Amino acid sequence: MSERKKKFRTEFRKNRTGKKRDNDLTRRFSDSATARDAHHEHDALARDERISGKGEISRKRTIIGQTQDDASDLAAMPGVGNNTTLRGRVLCVYGLTSDVEGPDGAIISCATRRLLKTLATEQRHVVAAGDWVRYRPSGDSVSGNAPREGIIEQVEPRRGILARNSRGRQHIMVANVDQLLVLGSAAEPYLKPNLIDRFLVSAEQVGLRPIIGINKIDLTDPAELQPLVGVYARMGYPVILLSATEQRGVAQVRQLMANRSTVIVGQSGVGKSSLLNALEPDWQLRTSAVSTDNQKGRHTTTTAKLMKLSFGGYVVDTPGIRQFQLWDIIAEEVAQRFRDLRPFANQCHFPNCTHTHESGCAIKDGVADGYLDARRYESYCAMREDDDEADEEWE
Ligand code: GDP
Ligand code: ZN
Repeated sequence: MSERKKKFRTEFRKNRTGKKRDNDLTRRFSDSATARDAHHEHDALARDERISGKGEISRKRTIIGQTQDDASDLAAMPGVGNNTTLRGRVLCVYGLTSDVEGPDGAIISCATRRLLKTLATEQRHVVAAGDWVRYRPSGDSVSGNAPREGIIEQVEPRRGILARNSRGRQHIMVANVDQLLVLGSAAEPYLKPNLIDRFLVSAEQVGLRPIIGINKIDLTDPAELQPLVGVYARMGYPVILLSATEQRGVAQVRQLMANRSTVIVGQSGVGKSSLLNALEPDWQLRTSAVSTDNQKGRHTTTTAKLMKLSFGGYVVDTPGIRQFQLWDIIAEEVAQRFRDLRPFANQCHFPNCTHTHESGCAIKDGVADGYLDARRYESYCAMREDDDEADEEWE
């Protein structure tokens, strides 16, 4: 460890005493790193405020998502030319090395360029699963074999990030995600529409395209689900009724997932692994009978891994993300994330209407007049209230 550090310092000094241009660049980078630090501090502050505003319970809600554009600073890294590097996608990060899928589909084990690591002072993991990177192949080139190793030189700007905030720091779990497949089950465990709503709100917050899947329809009469499906479909959410074990609706899921990067979320036992096995029979992921054990204490890894789908696209298998609460939103923003309530919210008498107790509330009137679904409104109220009971459902 210490030897590595020392080696780096030497390189750094070489840069400084070397060409003038490098020197300038170095200074510019440290400046922008300082600016970034300040920016991060500001963000951390804002987040802390949110957390303290919501009390102890909200501390558990750690996943946030946003588009990150400050990585574009890295585009100007000294000595990085695109002619000798290849573009690849990080499938998984294992400590200091990452598995990167190259343009030909081969998987290269890559280290990260030291300067790149140093620039990202505030991020413990400069490279995240899902990142698009430029890497320099190395290693086996002498023998004429295709290289199996490389060095990541540059990380492209990210969008669609799922991250976890811990103590004011952002830990990116996966980057460049397109959509969130919210999976519930018709039975065993019974359907929890309020939980689906929470995931939808999170997807809206993060800017991911939501897809709703209701699995295990073989256990119920699908007709019973129609009213609920109708409510979601009217809002423009794709809803798929499926049975992973009976291969029903799986083709539709495949169609929606093709050529995109999808994160699958849903409580334990709804059939996420079974669905993946139905999509890709070769994977043979372990499924688990719905257990009655208390799963709260169980710690699953939070290391995200992108799995390439045979029909194009990736699915992110992230046990950590499944269990974490996708939630970092202040109460005032909740109504804006409900697609159905949002247009009504602007019509309320009080501009700061919470839509709970106020008179002249367009949302409450909308429910009373039958324009809005009463269950969705109750789900909104529960989310605002943010009660312990709702939190229990997550785990
Ligand atoms: P996960 O925890 O969300 O990954 O859920 P699993 O895929 O491990 O599935 C939990 C249990 O539900 C297993 O016993 C599966 O066999 C069962 N299961 C999954 N999909 C279906 C389905 O479509 N119908 C029925 N009847 N059972 C299913
Ligand atoms: Zn209102």
